[in-house]
Amino acid sequence: MYRVTKLGKQYGDTWALKDVSFSLPDIGLIAIKGKSGSGKSTLLNLLSLLEKPSEGTIEFEGNELSRLSDKKRSEFLSSTTSFVFQHFNLIEDMSVLENVETPLLFRGENKKEIRIKAESLLKKYGVLSLKEKMVGVLSGGEKQRVALCRALITNPKVLFADEPTGALDKENEKIVMDDLKALSKKILVIMVSHNEKIIEKYADSILELSDGRLISKPLNEKHHSMPMEVKARKRHKSFLGWILNHNYKKNILKNGLSIISGVMGFCSLLLSLGFYNGSNQKLAEEKTSSLLYTSATICKRKVYEIEGSPLKLNRLIKPTIEEVETAFSEFDARFAVDLSFFMPVSTAFDCNGFEEEPAEFHPIFDLSLKDRTTSFVTKGKAPSGDTLDYVLVNEEFEKKYGGDILGKIITVNNQIQITEDNATDTLTLNYSFRVLGVVHEFAFLNTPKAFYSYPALESFLCKKRLENISKARGRDVSIIDFVNDENADPDYCGYSYLAFFSESDMPRIEKLGSEYNGLTISSDALMINQSFSSLINAFTTCLIPFLIISIIGVAFILGSLSCSSFLERKKQAAILTSLGASKEDLSFIYEGEGLMNVLISSVISIAVSFPAQKLLSMFLEGKVGLSNLVRIPFSSFLGIPFFPIIMTVVFALVIAIFGSSIPLNVMARKPVVEELRDE
Ligand code: ADP
Repeated sequence: MYRVTKLGKQYGDTWALKDVSFSLPDIGLIAIKGKSGSGKSTLLNLLSLLEKPSEGTIEFEGNELSRLSDKKRSEFLSSTTSFVFQHFNLIEDMSVLENVETPLLFRGENKKEIRIKAESLLKKYGVLSLKEKMVGVLSGGEKQRVALCRALITNPKVLFADEPTGALDKENEKIVMDDLKALSKKILVIMVSHNEKIIEKYADSILELSDGRLISKPLNEKHHSMPMEVKARKRHKSFLGWILNHNYKKNILKNGLSIISGVMGFCSLLLSLGFYNGSNQKLAEEKTSSLLYTSATICKRKVYEIEGSPLKLNRLIKPTIEEVETAFSEFDARFAVDLSFFMPVSTAFDCNGFEEEPAEFHPIFDLSLKDRTTSFVTKGKAPSGDTLDYVLVNEEFEKKYGGDILGKIITVNNQIQITEDNATDTLTLNYSFRVLGVVHEFAFLNTPKAFYSYPALESFLCKKRLENISKARGRDVSIIDFVNDENADPDYCGYSYLAFFSESDMPRIEKLGSEYNGLTISSDALMINQSFSSLINAFTTCLIPFLIISIIGVAFILGSLSCSSFLERKKQAAILTSLGASKEDLSFIYEGEGLMNVLISSVISIAVSFPAQKLLSMFLEGKVGLSNLVRIPFSSFLGIPFFPIIMTVVFALVIAIFGSSIPLNVMARKPVVEELRDE
């Protein structure tokens, strides 16, 4: 059956076995004897494929064993040989019955038949009453018998036994040896023993080793060369699943911790993505939410080079209205002269007769808001036409009055003095507005604002005659005539024109930047939008390194937890390998545990992130006043459908590989026997 030629095994510099050649028959009880350290266990391990030889060959039924593929090797271990280890190598956290049944469950045999076989074997060796007990609580003798039952249940062709009676009392020693002897009439039993009496009484042949060399060979060297048929074995998934589940439950605390850290990591990933997406969407939605969104000022900038200096001088000059109209002819816009000298943008005012801190007063072109598609008014209403009787205020303004602002009277009293040549006019301009509506505005960098009608102010100022200047010029001059004059002093009419664009033109205006056709455009609303978007970009960019650190941290925790669970199971993995588990089987069982953790965490985090994004949005809204800042783009992101779900699952798989596959592969490179040897 076995033909061994020039077999050698080297550990480091020492040869545990050297130049060993012999043949073994198909049946019989072969004893391997020798002093401690002579190489007995090494020979047994080589013959049983638990270790690979350093040199020489082992043929079994005409097949060279070291050339078997991983699949055939595991098939060989599961169907042809069985091993009774010196230190039993039972799976401690499984019951006696589960241990004994394992080799046949691996083969996918009928469970009821396996149970009958296992119980009859346990009965035969007097341990049936222990069948439900965990192996860990058994005595050495009981473990030995259970190990024997596990070895015999597969009806192997070859049974390896390393000191099979080492832990037994005389009575059980006899039972076991009689049984091995009986078995050896049908199969080959290869036994390591240092018990001379047993060897003398039971062995058919003896292989004696000394310092790794064979000093006596078996008498019977009759060699049968029957080709070995190694059938491909079906993987018994349900049994593998059972072990996976068993290990998972035993390790529930660590698995629970893995899931919690996974959920934290995946959630932070999803919520950061949600913040990036939500804040950008918020900006897109909110940037039009300002009555000033369509307003801009247009002026002309002249740059003077300074000789011999890298510095340049910028001077603002007022363009002519024709220049402005020509430059922006393709836009649907209204241009108007700046009247802020007569109605200052920032001014103190009275509210219902009480003096107040300054607020901003902005002109808009259509106070009825009919030219807008965005709905602004959140309380009250917009006036039906252009009038100086009413103003709209923003929510910031309203907040100053605890939400009670509608109907209040706002008065602005303005004393102005205009001087031209030697003529001076002093005017008192009193404005009295009733607050008719409150408008919602993009809250970022917002200040209390009131909006009044530009055309109404213009017609009001049209009627205001400058007496002294009129006299000096020799004709009627109103304030509007005065500021519209081509040579008007910029002290009174500013350097800029006001521009009121239509909403539909704004996306184009935004793209123009600040210079267009030689003119300079500036707009508070656009500037705020730009600052907000730069701020968000800066925040999200800053978030990336923290996110990477936290992700690496979580990956590391998950990886270490599953790595440490696996290390605890190294022995189990080695035992299963000796019982015929292939690499694929081991991957299924051990990578499965890590994989289950990360997949469960990713599913939980996807579910948890729904309410979490709402909570985080509410928290941020309380802090910064912007609602819905966190929006995880579940349905699509960057054109990829279900991006967050795909991202989480891919990330989970990467972690699973990091945590389970790497240690498993590292272990696969080590001989199984190293794990089996230690007790
Ligand atoms: P025996 O079973 O006869 O007591 P072994 O086969 O266990 O002897 O060991 C034979 C020799 O090989 C011993 O010197 C032992 O120290 C050495 N040896 C066995 N396994 C290893 C190993 N994994 N690494 C290094 N040396 C080993």
